[in-house]
Amino acid sequence: MADAASQLQAYYGGTFDPIHYGHLRPVEALAKTAKLAQIVIMPNNVPPHRPQPRASSAQRKAMVELAIADNPLFSLDDRELQRETPSYTAETFRQLREECGEAAPLAFIIGQDSLLSLPRWYHYEQLLERCHLLVCRRPGYPVRMPDEKQQRWLESRLTSDIALLHQRPAGHIFLADTPLFDISATDIRSRLAENRRCDDIVPPAVLAYIREHHLYR
Ligand code: ATP
Repeated sequence: MADAASQLQAYYGGTFDPIHYGHLRPVEALAKTAKLAQIVIMPNNVPPHRPQPRASSAQRKAMVELAIADNPLFSLDDRELQRETPSYTAETFRQLREECGEAAPLAFIIGQDSLLSLPRWYHYEQLLERCHLLVCRRPGYPVRMPDEKQQRWLESRLTSDIALLHQRPAGHIFLADTPLFDISATDIRSRLAENRRCDDIVPPAVLAYIREHHLYR
């Protein structure tokens, strides 16, 4: 029989414009704590009415590939980039659920900032019916939800039981005690525009790609 602690399939969404160590380091720690064998990075399509990423979909995908090339923990799923339509996470997990079957444990990884804005996401309660949420800490973002109703909603779904996340298909939220990295893609883009150093916050191969393609100037 397969090891129960290797069955939770975890997906990590984001714009990754560009991917940086603030994305990678916390989820590497999360993988150890939550016993994740694999993390699937899933770059998203940005809806037309929202500010567009500076790098194209193909460039964001290429940078993710370079960032994870030497690390077997990670793989890439570009299904959202291939769509013409906006990426609604709840919709993507409906599709993933269809592919994996009702019993397969699935998770979506987010940072604390994304948890705080989750109640504004399209069909966020349906998302929890389709996967667990694994949340990484992020400096500058409070640990409580913006209002009491949302905080009660969060508390009703919280678990610290890793085994449960690997046994149940969906429905729980795990707040991981991951190390803090005060890094954002926004800050990286402005550093690059001002010709400031980023070598301690962006993987070297990604930085080389950015230079080669004259991105974020
Ligand atoms: P931007 O500055 O362009 O908004 P970002 O750095 O926040 O970008 P995204 O691609 O929007 O990066 O984030 C993807 C996911 O990674 C989100 O769930 C976000 O919460 C998480 N994340 C990004 N940076 C960090 C960080 N420094 N620590 C923890 N989580 C992070």
